[in-house]
Amino acid sequence: MKVTLLGTGSPLPSATCAGPSTLVQAGGQNILVDAGRAVVMRLAGAMCPPPLVGAVLLTHLHSDHICDLNDVVTTRWVASPAATPLDIWGPVGTKAMVEGLFAMLAADVTYRLDHHDDLRAGIGMAVNVVEVEPGDSFRIGEVSVSVHRTDHRPVAPTIGFRIEADGKSAALAGDTVPCAELDEMCRGADLYVQTVVREDLVRTFAPLVPIGDRFLDILDYHSTVEQAAQTASRAGVGTLVLTHYVPAIQPGGEDEWRALAAAHFSGPIIVGPDLTSVSA
Ligand SMILES: [Zn+2]
Ligand SMILES: [Zn+2]
Repeated sequence: MKVTLLGTGSPLPSATCAGPSTLVQAGGQNILVDAGRAVVMRLAGAMCPPPLVGAVLLTHLHSDHICDLNDVVTTRWVASPAATPLDIWGPVGTKAMVEGLFAMLAADVTYRLDHHDDLRAGIGMAVNVVEVEPGDSFRIGEVSVSVHRTDHRPVAPTIGFRIEADGKSAALAGDTVPCAELDEMCRGADLYVQTVVREDLVRTFAPLVPIGDRFLDILDYHSTVEQAAQTASRAGVGTLVLTHYVPAIQPGGEDEWRALAAAHFSGPIIVGPDLTSVSA
């Protein structure tokens, strides 16, 4: 099982960090978890272009986690010799969001069908959307996935996924504060991927920016680096993987982030730029 941080960024624009998305490669499957800004560029960087993506899992419908899903859907369709429907699993609300996405792309789909005879012979740009809730489980080929409640209120519903294949497991939490359901999802997982914020830096920068109050608001519905490490410790995970860095990590700053986590978790801690990967 290999996990690659495709995008380690957040809603904050960054020249170097793509938006949140993570690639899980296991059991012969390429599974995309969230589809943030520039995800298709990072899929190319991971040598896994969209036609190779078999399934997309969405943790929630915040724009930073879904804003380039349209690019995944379109590029997968037009770049596949014979496209199959893309399976998308997400929380309640995903169907309506994808319907809107298809409405946005309607003109483009018409242009491409008008232009390419072989695309007209295919199934068209097709997706299967399944809305899932905590407690659900499903399979993607040989990979099993369970769905767990997370706490990103007032954003709801939000879910995390535990992915198991080849005797290994990865828990992908999305945006959440620590909670009992998160601990349960992570229990004994080989890899635990958590979106995080640096509380100390957010509090330092907030008074210096024009939207300081809005910046402070992010603290009450994300895990801090320290909280992610505490969850990792309580759940007894193998490796903690941090992503969705707020603010973006400055070059060479990874050790500082790792040290904050290491005060609460004694196992390996992965902190790195886009396309950092770890295997279990
Ligand atoms: Zn986010
Ligand atoms: Zn969010």
